[in-house]
Amino acid sequence: MNKSTIVVGGGIAGMTVAGELSQLGVEVTLVEQEQITGGHAAGWDRLFPTRRPAEEVISFLREQTDSRVNTFSGRSVTEILHHESMFTATLSDGTILRGESLVLATGYDLFDASRKEEYGYGIYDNVITSAELEGWFKNHQPVRTKNGRIPSRVAFIHCVGSRDEKVGNLYCSKVCCITGVKQAIEVKEALPSCDVYSFYMDLRMFDRNFEELYFEAQKNYGITFIRGRLSECSENADHTLVVKTEDTLTGKPMKMIVDLVVLLVGFVPRSQNTQMFSKLKLITGNDGFLQPEDEHNGDNLTRIPGLFITGAVKGPVTIANAVADARATALQVYSFLHSNR
Ligand code: SF4
Repeated sequence: MNKSTIVVGGGIAGMTVAGELSQLGVEVTLVEQEQITGGHAAGWDRLFPTRRPAEEVISFLREQTDSRVNTFSGRSVTEILHHESMFTATLSDGTILRGESLVLATGYDLFDASRKEEYGYGIYDNVITSAELEGWFKNHQPVRTKNGRIPSRVAFIHCVGSRDEKVGNLYCSKVCCITGVKQAIEVKEALPSCDVYSFYMDLRMFDRNFEELYFEAQKNYGITFIRGRLSECSENADHTLVVKTEDTLTGKPMKMIVDLVVLLVGFVPRSQNTQMFSKLKLITGNDGFLQPEDEHNGDNLTRIPGLFITGAVKGPVTIANAVADARATALQVYSFLHSNR
């Protein structure tokens, strides 16, 4: 008889786990609340640091899952029960799924930039988020201000909703520095005469080829990186924006007028899952993301045998690391299903 698992979440991590386990002969059911799989990456144009099209990575994962995995899209999981070594997941349309194991790959939300009222998001038309800019790239929409002008100055703002005590998020979201560098290059490629500035607290180029891209941004594209945290953004009568920053080391203030501001929004835990996770008595860290049973020797395990966690449900992660984590999770699930429980 086939061993079975339910994977909740059809983003990069969920699709990877589902694809790997189905190749190993496990009967997999994947649940994705959106109509299409791919998660946040499905709205992304190009991936850092190589600028490979996101669609390539998603298509590969869809090929791995489409024919072998039973996928329920456009439905969310409303309840998960664990009884006599079986998991039961109830979906929003009333469907009930059963499996011997279950993987939570429910991912993250992006920080709601309007919570930083002083940054002007949702108030001024020319303050947008990095996700919106990525959508413009994906839809081949030209980089313009809301009234159709070609911007001559664009400012990227790092750490929006991360490393910020005021909003209660002390953690670093890991990927927004390199996203900012990638997008700054792309704005410069689209508008060579535009001046592009990046305001940062400190740059975290931790992974392979990140530092090189940062170097390229300065040397080959003339992007200016300025140490400074945004304190306030206001609008002039002509809809240009006044960006006021403060150097985090010296406290020195600075003011600049730009046409477009891009807020590099960080990861936050998915609030819609809070109730479901607390019913399962899963532990969250101070940052609100799920805490694994053992961060070194059981990074995908929970206190419930057969219940696994993978990807950004545990905190900010790159796509490459989400794939690696999901593959490790698949092996853990497989050995659980074949153990003498
Ligand atoms: S990755 Fe960079 S922009 Fe993102 S929170 Fe960390 S330091 Fe800030």
